[in-house]
Parts: sequence; structure tokens; C-alpha cells
Amino acid sequence: MSAYPKDLDQGWRRRLRSRVLRWYDQNGRKLPWRESADPYRIWVSEIMLQQTTVTAVVPYFERFIERFPDVRCLAEAEQDQVLRLWEGLGYYSRARNLHKAAGVITRDMDARFPEAADELKQLPGIGPYTAGAISSFAFNRPAAILEANTLRLYSRLTELDIDPRGTEGQKKLWKFAGWIVSRKRAADFNQAVMDIGSQVCRPIDPKCSTCPLMPSCKSFEEGRQSEIPLAKPKPQITDVTEVSIAVRKGNRFLMRQYADNERWAGLWDFVRFEVSDEDVANVQIPERRRAKAMAALPGQQSLFGDDCEAESLSLLPPSLTKRITELTGTMVTSYEPIIEIRHAVTRYRIRLLCLVCKFEDGRLKQGAGYQWCSRNQLRDLPLSTTGRRFAALLDSCR
Ligand code: SF4
Repeated sequence: MSAYPKDLDQGWRRRLRSRVLRWYDQNGRKLPWRESADPYRIWVSEIMLQQTTVTAVVPYFERFIERFPDVRCLAEAEQDQVLRLWEGLGYYSRARNLHKAAGVITRDMDARFPEAADELKQLPGIGPYTAGAISSFAFNRPAAILEANTLRLYSRLTELDIDPRGTEGQKKLWKFAGWIVSRKRAADFNQAVMDIGSQVCRPIDPKCSTCPLMPSCKSFEEGRQSEIPLAKPKPQITDVTEVSIAVRKGNRFLMRQYADNERWAGLWDFVRFEVSDEDVANVQIPERRRAKAMAALPGQQSLFGDDCEAESLSLLPPSLTKRITELTGTMVTSYEPIIEIRHAVTRYRIRLLCLVCKFEDGRLKQGAGYQWCSRNQLRDLPLSTTGRRFAALLDSCR
């Protein structure tokens, strides 16, 4: 039977709060964004931490704050500069919204963050969790927060036996999060429950025997900690094959910026599109080439050296030639294989064949957004992660 605010009394809440805060005083993690109550730093860190681990975020956060130390600096930057710093973190709409919201805060609020979660939620890219985090961490307001770690922790503490991600489950958990948060030490409390969720109440194999909240935990009491929260259905994975074509004219390459309604909006990429496996059945990346490309990646030393031009060219399948002309207006007929990359984007598992094609003829198609970019420009443009990997290999091709 689920226990929720109506079933839990004030005594239970008081004991739980004091256990949480005692644990935090002894075990709280030191993180760069916890050293100040600056809402700007907290906001940037919280946006970066969505769908990204703490370890991956730390260097990005430090670089970002060094380049854009306050909300005015961020608002004054070009979107390309913001995306370039975000490169590799993924989910680029976060960076675009961050930039947009900085503009609103600077222009309409005299660069001052609102303190209430309800007002913060009106800003681009700030959802209920981020609003609660800024409001509690920066202003110590007793705002509710709910993200992956607290969702799991609160589901277990209260023995929630419905889907915690469904409408009803979310309603209950948000209500609980607002009810349980400490009124006096909201910032510490919310940091603590996230830490306990990630370090102690882990998804698999929770460390109940050393958990500070064990005496308050309804799931532990019933021996149900391994079945709660209810598992979410696995997403259906779809296999996709794509090509990334670096159309080359002398020392320049054909590039295009993704539009607002496209995957990776705002980033730049080579000519990239989906193909059928039949289209590329004869496109081979020789094992020798693949190994050489992989070896060149870390240090980006010369991959091709003097043999760049000496690599034998193969005939591009007619369906690819036709598609490149349709998209860009340029004509290419042969290719040089560079690397095959396997990566995943949301529920898609992508096999990406990266090829270089020498420009032969044609005029850039009007309105298609393609332009010739030098190697130096490639270094400054924000690219997709695979685009950057590919560009690093081209960098050393003379
Ligand atoms: Fe999680 Fe176990 Fe602690 Fe309950 S006792 S909160 S299940 S780690």
C-alpha cells in the first residue's frame, strides 16, 4: 500500500529531514557550482547536468564560466560561440535555450534572476526541476525538486507502487517533494537528497545497510527496494545508416548549419543524410584505413600525410551522387573512404560512413544553406560530435 503525505505524519517528516541533513553535513560532495549561491552558476550547472554525468560536466562548466562569467556576458555572445563551448555535451537545445533565457533575464529583468520557482519556469528551457533547483540552491526557498535520483529515492521511501513517470505518479511525487523539503535549509536538503539518491539509493543494488534513511524507508520495511520504482518500458531501438560527405574544393569543405526544426539545430555539419543499406552495399572502409583513422584521432597527427592524394578513389553509388546534387547543387562522382562511426542518438543506433568527395562541377543550390568553409573556419564552428571527429581527420589531410 502506498504511503503518501496523507498517510505520513509530521513526526516521520521531522525525523527524515534531520537524517537527511545530518548525512549531508558529514558527506556532502564538493562541486564547483556548490561553492557559491550565484543563481547564474547554479542555472548553468543544472542545465548541463540534465542527461549528463557530474564527471562529464565539471570541465565543461569550468570552461563555460570562464568564457561567460555572468548572465550579461552570455546574453551578449553569439549563439555559435555558445554552441562551440557546448560541443560534445549533446542535447544542444539546452545551450540554445540558455542563450535565449540569458537575453530575457538581461533585457527584461535587469540581469536579476527571479527567486520564485513559478517565475523561473516562465524562462526558456527552465522546467519544474531546474526552477526548483535555482530557487532552493540560490535563494534557499523551500521549492520542490524531482529528477532521476530523487524520483527513485522518493518512490522507495514512500513505497510508490505506480509508474513514477506517469501522470499520477508524477503528481504524487511532486506533491511529496514539496511537502518533505526543509523549510529552513532547503538548499542543503535538496542537494542532500540528490546525493543520497545517486550514491546510496542506487538504481541497482541500493546500499540499504549503510543508508542514513533506512529507518524511514517504507520499501525497505517491506523488502521491496529492488522492485521499486517500477521499471520503465525499454525504448524500441531503430537501426539507421547515414553518410557524412565532406565535399572538398581545394582546401575548403561544403558545410551547412542545421535549421531550428532539425536534429542538432544550430550546429554545423558536412553533407549528411540517411541511406538504405543497399545504397551503400559497395561502399567499403578498408580495415587498414579504419585502423589508421582511429590511431590518428587522439593526437590528431597526420593521418594521410603525403599519401592523401595517393589513396585510390572509388566510384560513388549513383543514388548518392544524385542525392548530393539534389541537396547542394554540386556534382561529385568518386569518393575516398575515411572512417565508419557507430553512435546512438535517442532511440536510433546509427552507422555513419564518412567519405571525402572532390568537387567536380556545379553551383551551390540557392537557399539550401550550404557554404564553402576553410579548415580554420571548421575549427571555430560548432559541429556535431561526429562532425568534429570527422573534421579532426580532415585537418591533417593536405
Ligand atoms: Fe534506498 Fe535502501 Fe535507503 Fe530505502 S533504505 S532509501 S531503498 S538505500
